[in-house]
Amino acid sequence: MKVDLHTHSNYSDGTLDPEELIQKAHDLGISHLALCDHDSTGGLETARAKATGLNMTLISGIEINTSETSSVHILGYFIDEKSEDLQKTLRDHREIRAKRSEMILERLRQMGIKIHLSDFGGRKETASIGRPHIADKLKEKGVVFSRQEAFEKYLAKGKSAYAFYEGPTPQRAIEIILQAKGVPVVAHPGFFVSKEMMDNLVKLGLQGIETYYPTHRPDQIKWFLDLAKSRDLVVTGGSDYHGPGSGHELLGQVPVPAEVVDRIWERKQKLFG
Ligand SMILES: [Zn+2]
Ligand SMILES: [Zn+2]
Repeated sequence: MKVDLHTHSNYSDGTLDPEELIQKAHDLGISHLALCDHDSTGGLETARAKATGLNMTLISGIEINTSETSSVHILGYFIDEKSEDLQKTLRDHREIRAKRSEMILERLRQMGIKIHLSDFGGRKETASIGRPHIADKLKEKGVVFSRQEAFEKYLAKGKSAYAFYEGPTPQRAIEIILQAKGVPVVAHPGFFVSKEMMDNLVKLGLQGIETYYPTHRPDQIKWFLDLAKSRDLVVTGGSDYHGPGSGHELLGQVPVPAEVVDRIWERKQKLFG
C-alpha cells in the first residue's frame, strides 16, 4: 500500500485534470490517494470513477486557505461533498477568489500586460481560479518562463500585481469541514510552527496534523508525532502534488504509513457515527 493524502488537480491550482492525476498516481504504484483541491470538490467524481477502474481508493478531500497570513491551511478528509452547506460556502470562496484575480489582472493591465478573466473561460464552474492560473497565463504569453518567475516578479506578497486574499478564519474553516462530516487536519504546519496556533486550532475542533510533508525536517516530524499523541490527533501526510511544471512534483515520494488511512476513517466514525 502506497499512500499520498495531499494532491491537487486543475479544479484548483494543479496542472493535471483529475483523470490524468489518478493515472499518474497509479503508474507510481499509489493505492490510496486523496484529492484536496482548494475550495472545490468538482474533481472528485471523475477522480473516483477513474480510481475505481484502476482498483485504487480515492479519498474525498478539500483544502481551505484561511485568513491567517502565516499559511494556515485546513485539509478536510472523507468530506460529504454532496452537503449543500459545503457547496454554497465553496461557491462563495471561489467568488472571492475570482474578485481577487480580477484585481491582480487589473494591476497587470496597468503595467501593459493584457489578460482578462474571460481568458480563463474554459474552466469549469466548480473550479477555483487563483494566482497559479494567472502565472500560467503569463508563461503562455511569454512574459515569464515559469510559475515561479511569475510569483517572484508579479504575484507574490509585496510584488507589483499582488492582491490580498481574505479567506475564512481557521475557526470557520474547521467548522465548514465538520459540518460536511469531514475530518479537519492542519496542512503543512511546518510553514508556521507555532505551539500557540496549534493549541488554538485544537480548541476549535482540529482532529489531525499533516506530519509527513516534503519540507518537514525529522525534528519537526518528531514534534508533530508527539503533539498528535498528547492531543489525540490523527497523523496524515502527503506530497502536496500540483502536477508537472508546478514546482510541487513529488507525487508518492513522501513516505506515509499506510495505516493512517484507517485512523482517519475511524476518527470520522467516532465523530459522526
Ligand atoms: Zn496548502
Ligand atoms: Zn495543498
